[in-house]
Amino acid sequence: MDYRVSARKTAVAQALISRDLLREEAPLVGVIDMEALDAVIGSLKRAFPAHFSHAFAAKANSMPGVLAHVRGAGMACEVASPNEFAAAVDAGFQPMDIVFDSPAKTRSELHRALGVGTVLYVDNFQELARVDELLRNTSSTATIGARINPQVGAGSITSTSTASATSKFGIALGDPGNRDALIAAFLARPWLTSLHVHVGSQGCPLDLTVQGVRAVVDLANAIDAACGQRRISTLDIGGGLPVNFADDTVHPTFDEYATLLRDTVPELFDGSMRVITEFGRSVIAKVGFILARVEYTKTMGGRRVAITHAGAQVAARTVYQPDTWPLRISALDEQGRPKPGVAVEQDVAGPCCFAGDILAHRRALPLLEPGDHVLIHDTGGYYFSSPYIYNSLPPIDAYAVAGPDQQFEIVSLG
Ligand SMILES: *Cc1c(COP(=O)(O)O)cnc(C)c1O
Repeated sequence: MDYRVSARKTAVAQALISRDLLREEAPLVGVIDMEALDAVIGSLKRAFPAHFSHAFAAKANSMPGVLAHVRGAGMACEVASPNEFAAAVDAGFQPMDIVFDSPAKTRSELHRALGVGTVLYVDNFQELARVDELLRNTSSTATIGARINPQVGAGSITSTSTASATSKFGIALGDPGNRDALIAAFLARPWLTSLHVHVGSQGCPLDLTVQGVRAVVDLANAIDAACGQRRISTLDIGGGLPVNFADDTVHPTFDEYATLLRDTVPELFDGSMRVITEFGRSVIAKVGFILARVEYTKTMGGRRVAITHAGAQVAARTVYQPDTWPLRISALDEQGRPKPGVAVEQDVAGPCCFAGDILAHRRALPLLEPGDHVLIHDTGGYYFSSPYIYNSLPPIDAYAVAGPDQQFEIVSLG
């Protein structure tokens, strides 16, 4: 694990500390770098043709400042709960730029989505029957489709793989009778015009994801053939591009994914369908970090331990599954400058009252001392923005950094 830190991140850390934003009552903060975010969104847009519409997966980071920023940068928004839906509306997304696709939508959530006209994906045949009922007496401008599980297999992380044979999401394409039932469902409902697939997040190799998209485009072609005309006019290919958490390099890139897709699913690139993507982690993870104060340090059974203010409340996945979700950590001094000195193995622990609240075990870092800081990299998504309430720890202050290196501004993310 690389513990070096870029000059920009240390400059931001020093600014946060000198402005007293790591307060006694809030000794850790989350940061999103809007310059870096704009660069990522630029690379995403350049990788795909203009008929692709890129929806940001709100679950990765639904903070008001983040959603408003990605909207301003031209993204749409994928939401999967009533609160994410409300956050997207508050951030100014137009209904047609909101993709609503959670697995447990209530009748009233469906009613609202149909009423305002979002992009809406039903998860199963029972939900489709509810939409039938709701549409019996009204029409809707919503783009409506079905989420498909192409059952192409799981990646290396079970909990984020959504295309295994028994994954809970969508209609299982290969199960007996489902393919024919889907084609019949589309034949019977002219308002079904879209298909959705999301093969998984983090840990899914690109070729698995592309295979899942291929399977769903084959289904779209079969539905079109059965209808005797183009019926599937929108295809949502989900998100799930993995993120490299080991160092600052970005791989795989959006370009690499686009190249593989172009080779295997050329239909997506001929402009005949609107294509939606739903990237979350690959857009936001590497543009954010956590900065936390080291409160105490000690030695236990020969092991050095630094007790910091960042633990399970901001990094639940890493604390509970440290081998699957390792995070890079840098040691900074009291002012936020890179800490000099030889690397020494030490545990980096959090503030929660359970023994497993450790962010990194036996991590080689310059020796931490009270008053130092730890900078936890690549935590822009699914970390401080999705806090885990434990010990009633206080909410996490989060800031946006905008502007060039020498004159950036820091504002609250709300
Ligand atoms: C979580 C999720 C995403 C985003 O996944 P990332 O790995 O963050 O890109 C997109 N679509 C759906 C349906 C999801 O559940």
